[in-house]
Amino acid sequence: KAEHTVKDLDASKLTIELTNTPRPVPELNSKETWSCRACSDHMVTVTWLEGKGWQAPKIVPYGPLTMMPTASCLHYATQCFEGMKVYRGFDGKLRLFRPDKNCQRMVISSTRVSLPAFDPVELEKLIKALMKVDGAKWLPKSQPGNFLYLRPSIIGNGEELGVKAPAEVLLFIIAVPWPDLSTGWNPSGGGVPGLKLLASKNDTRAWPGGFGYAKVGANYGPAFVAAMEGRKKGYDQILWLFGPDYQVTEAGASNFFVVWQSKEGTRELITAPLDDKIILDGVTRRSVLELARTRFVAKSAYLSDAIKELNIIERTYTIAEVEEAQKEGRLIEAFVSGTAYFITPVSAISVHDEEFPINMDAGHTGHYAGMLKEWLMEIKYGKVDHEWGVVV
Ligand code: PMP
Repeated sequence: KAEHTVKDLDASKLTIELTNTPRPVPELNSKETWSCRACSDHMVTVTWLEGKGWQAPKIVPYGPLTMMPTASCLHYATQCFEGMKVYRGFDGKLRLFRPDKNCQRMVISSTRVSLPAFDPVELEKLIKALMKVDGAKWLPKSQPGNFLYLRPSIIGNGEELGVKAPAEVLLFIIAVPWPDLSTGWNPSGGGVPGLKLLASKNDTRAWPGGFGYAKVGANYGPAFVAAMEGRKKGYDQILWLFGPDYQVTEAGASNFFVVWQSKEGTRELITAPLDDKIILDGVTRRSVLELARTRFVAKSAYLSDAIKELNIIERTYTIAEVEEAQKEGRLIEAFVSGTAYFITPVSAISVHDEEFPINMDAGHTGHYAGMLKEWLMEIKYGKVDHEWGVVV
């Protein structure tokens, strides 16, 4: 009988308390935007209790959370999150990009660290509800092409210090103005187009049987050491290699792709596979693969002299294969994909202290990366009608 009273997440129970102290919206690309902390006026909070399940969700004024110093997430990394954006379209509408995929991924992340599951459809409704409250002010219609970053998070905040799954959990959703990292220009300020990647040598981000596929904080904090060392040497992101054969996995907080001519002479788009569960199933990665599979094919209207047909391949590959392709002149381009970096070309990779450059024939980007970025922009900003662009 008790089981019947354990409640699932239910967006229809949402209550809204509006703020009396509205927050200023930072100027586009201002210092405050780069500080990534000028959150919108409101946030969603939902409590989960062991034996009782998900309580009624609330929209409340943005502000500090309280928890005991013994709270589970502060000690045992019982924490997960999502990263997605809401876009102000050129038709004036607000859109999310494939939010169902983020919400489903959050269930996978949550359960990987023994936090509760929930109906992902209800989470998507709560995200939309927050944007109905804050969207008009924080993404004015006068700024089409702008976006906010959305950060749904779940933390174990039960106050028992015992080494076990928390009995109380908090889900919250916040929205924050965020800089555009996807312009194709080196964010470290060098003025050189494209990202420079430093291949990891001794550090491993994730491993089979671990949690690399989950969006949990425990994947990020430990990676900052390598990222900061890379920055000092002038690199924007770490290209995470895995295993004694140095398999290429992903780059920083984004997925990684190369386009090359195979030894047999066919053109291929290559990215690491999901089966080993060591990389994140990126929403952008998935979208790149789906668009490439339908548009970079024989007889497609999108092909040209620069854009030839591609075989789309998800497989394990090594950094030695990439280096070899580069040395033999078969490496056509490389790029990263993700919510924050969108589609950004890679201009160089340093492997074992040796740096090799990568072509960006189309100026600030490679030809394939440029087209993929354009197609995704059109969907996100409502220049084309597409089921991936979900109007709030
Ligand atoms: N890999 C990692 C480790 C990431 O943190 C992200 C960002 N969420 C990605 C890949 C890209 O995923 P998405 O396209 O869903 O943003």
